[in-house]
Order: sequence, then structure tokens, then C-alpha cells
Amino acid sequence: SSLETWKKVDDYFVDQLIPEDPVMNQILQANKKANLPSIDVSATQGKLLQLFVKMKGAKNVLEIGTLGGYSSIWMAKALPAEGHLTTLEFSPKHAEVASKNMETAGVKDKIEIIVGPAAESLPTLEGREPFDFVFIDADKNNNPRYIKEALKLSKSGTTILVDNVVRDGKLLDEESNDPSINGIREMFDLLKDHPRLDSTAFQTVGSKGYDGFVLAVVQ
Ligand code: SAM
Repeated sequence: SSLETWKKVDDYFVDQLIPEDPVMNQILQANKKANLPSIDVSATQGKLLQLFVKMKGAKNVLEIGTLGGYSSIWMAKALPAEGHLTTLEFSPKHAEVASKNMETAGVKDKIEIIVGPAAESLPTLEGREPFDFVFIDADKNNNPRYIKEALKLSKSGTTILVDNVVRDGKLLDEESNDPSINGIREMFDLLKDHPRLDSTAFQTVGSKGYDGFVLAVVQ
């Protein structure tokens, strides 16, 4: 199998399961026009995030890594009327594009974008109501730190999902000194026998290539 096949199968899944939504396409176009890198989740993954939010009955969602808000919007659409999503983004430019996209999608009133390095924004969230669902998708070298911070903002049952934990198998490349890969490995070391986190990981293929997610539930 190859990327070409994975793409075709993803397209088939989208055709079968994800009703055409001109607004979501418009958002990806706006990202492209603003020269944002196309490193958002795929449509099937966006829908997966949305279903996680539904399954959890989540009211309070935290996202680390907004980009153009594509994944934020998928999740926000599944929130109840009183639901709220907080998303952290380093780049003011990305946050601005995301903010416009959230307006286009009609979910802006449910979303707060906090601009700045997530490592600095996260401690400011302590004392707020704990989050039900956390999606980590920013600078991978900081993944261990984000897990630790997310734990402080969690309660029993909080679900944490981390994207890009396989990176085309580079996870196991012993030669690699890439800080992203090191961050992912340190995250797995942190999750191993963690007293408060019950975790698994799954590999994925699709239009975004070969990668994977970590899923962790707070005890
Ligand atoms: N979740 C988005 C989606 O699927 O639509 C994609 C997020 S993209 C993979 C990663 C984002 O994290 C980028 O927009 C990048 O600017 C942001 N980022 C990188 N380092 C960061 C940091 N230290 N704090 C917060 N955001 C950061």
C-alpha cells in the first residue's frame, strides 16, 4: 500500500461519511490564501475529534495548537449551547486567521483563542473549571510538558488525545536527534506506568500519510 491508496480510501470515507460542507472547505481555502502550512488534521480526523467530544459529552475543551482553527471548529460544532473551547496558539498571524474562520463557521462565541507560547498560557488556566477533553497538537518537543500541564487542568475521566506520535515511524529511529521525535519519546516515557494516566496509542494512515495518536484517560 502507498500514500496514493491511503488518500483514495480517505476520499472514499469522506464521500461516504462526511457530508460536503462548503464552510469547512472555505476555511481550508482561507488558510491556503493566508499561506498557513497545511498541517491541519484531515477531514476524517476532524470528524474523529468531533465524535470524541460527543462521546464524552464534553462541555469544556482545551486545544494546544490552533493553526487556522480547522480542528477547533470540528470540535466546537459538537459542543452543547453552554459549551466552551479554549485554544492556545503561539503565532498571532495563525490566531487571526483562525478567529476569522471561527466567525465564518458561526462558532466564535464558543471559542477563546489565547495567543502566546502554550507553556506560558497553560498555567494561567489553573483554577478554571477542569477540562473534559484535551487535544494536544502543537510543538511536539513540548509534549511531555503539555501532558503534565493538562493533568493539572483535568479531573477523573478527562480524555487527552495527542496527534503526530508516530511521524512515519521516525519515533523508533535511533539515529534521530530531532527535538520533535525526542519530545514524543519522552512523552511515552512519561506515560509508561503513569499513576494517573491510562493510555494507549494507535497508528493511522490516510491523506496525511503515516502517523498516529496517543489516547490517555485521567484516573
Ligand atoms: N490543530 C490544528 C488543526 O488541526 O487545524 C493544527 C495545529 S498545527 C499542527 C500546530 C500549531 O501549533 C501551529 O499553528 C503552531 O504555530 C502552533 N505552535 C507551535 N509552537 C507553539 C507553542 N509553543 N505554543 C502554542 N502554539 C504553538
